[in-house]
Amino acid sequence: MGNSTETIIRESLDALMDDQSFLPDLKDSERKKAFSSLHSILSTPDHVNKSYLRIALEDGEVERIPAFRVQHNKILGPYKGGIRFHQSVSETEVENFAALMTLKNALHEVPFGGGKGGVIINPREYSPKELNLICKKYVQNFNETLGPDKDIPAPDMGTGEREMDWMMGEYKNIHPGQPYRGSFTGKSVMNGGSLGRKRATGKGVYLSFRYMMNDFVKKQEKWLSERDNRFAKTALSYVDKPLSIAVQGFGNVGSIAALEAYQCNYLKNKVVAVSDHNVTLYNSEGLDIPNLITFANDHQGDLPTNEEQLGEAEVKAIIRDRDDLLTLDIDVLILAALESQIHQDNVKDVKAQIIVEGANAPITSEADHYLADNGIIIIPDILANAGGVIVSYLEWLQGRETQFLSEEKVYERMFDKMKETFDTIFPEFYGDPFPLRQNCYIHAVMKISTITYRQGKLY
Ligand code: GLU
Repeated sequence: MGNSTETIIRESLDALMDDQSFLPDLKDSERKKAFSSLHSILSTPDHVNKSYLRIALEDGEVERIPAFRVQHNKILGPYKGGIRFHQSVSETEVENFAALMTLKNALHEVPFGGGKGGVIINPREYSPKELNLICKKYVQNFNETLGPDKDIPAPDMGTGEREMDWMMGEYKNIHPGQPYRGSFTGKSVMNGGSLGRKRATGKGVYLSFRYMMNDFVKKQEKWLSERDNRFAKTALSYVDKPLSIAVQGFGNVGSIAALEAYQCNYLKNKVVAVSDHNVTLYNSEGLDIPNLITFANDHQGDLPTNEEQLGEAEVKAIIRDRDDLLTLDIDVLILAALESQIHQDNVKDVKAQIIVEGANAPITSEADHYLADNGIIIIPDILANAGGVIVSYLEWLQGRETQFLSEEKVYERMFDKMKETFDTIFPEFYGDPFPLRQNCYIHAVMKISTITYRQGKLY
């Protein structure tokens, strides 16, 4: 298991060690043993499944593609988490993401465990027919471990509705006559997917920021001014100030988070920069996000990269280097691209005071400590980007009940669920010296550990 999950679990358990309300039935002598068992259980995945997908490419050659499905923990329910198609996928990364899914689901009281899949390919380099074969092979090879009550994949970077539809179709072929709708989430609506699933993560990412600024900063200014910590100070400095926002990544998460910010009329905020794998676009007056989304939809997801394309998109912006976005002089940074984007070498140049993690693990732990020491508020991935898995859960439920919710109802239920978590976490955060991320981890670890203990797994 990669270092970071082990650290998260160890630090969270250390913080809980002194909390006598946590596992109060345990005698002192048992406590130590129980904590050591919890550490072993939570810092190791239940299963690491690896396979090679052998695919006949269009040119007749056979390629051997490494693929993973890691199942981290199922104490709260079936394993759940996306499948990533990206050239940077590695076994360690998938293990860490599977653990993050366990924590994310526990934090938001979603009755699932944590899992994650990965395939080491750049999906842009494969034809639809080849991608279809890759999806089918993935299901064939991991067939034993998947299922609506065992392990339920969903989209992640590089995958979407199309891939989930294909995978569910293959699952159905392999298991004739058995329930199949709940085997994958993030499917197209026509194929049993939920309305709202596609935009859920991006909407939730912006919601986490809006809710913090509005309900825990603006509306509670007095309460906040009595908290004597560096994070409360940062938050207070933004009460009623206009906020400039930069969004890294313009895919399914970044573009929707940017659109939500653009459309929000009760926080004074402006999206001044967006970036993708090619460029940064900047306009201090604010960018026309709807026009950029229309352009990206017509150009394989890419933002305009030159003046002519900006003209075509009817967008006024300055074109800058891709990574310039991270160090712009702005207030809020929404990270919705890859992991480890802010690291030791660029962290000192980051000027944003509030960072929202739409992507999973976009900040390395060294950079995270530096930012926290400087009072930068980070709304961490497991808090901010859970909209996707929450609506996945609603999709899974709707598939079981064969009753479908309106889009409005889906968002209402997603928002309610996230707000319940925010209402628990934000006051704790402003009330004590831990960064928000630690609060979330501790909360999630406490939940999983209590259930593990109650199910008699620590004897
Ligand atoms: N891939 C998304 C995540 O990292 C969604 C997972 C899911 O819906 O199961 O949270």
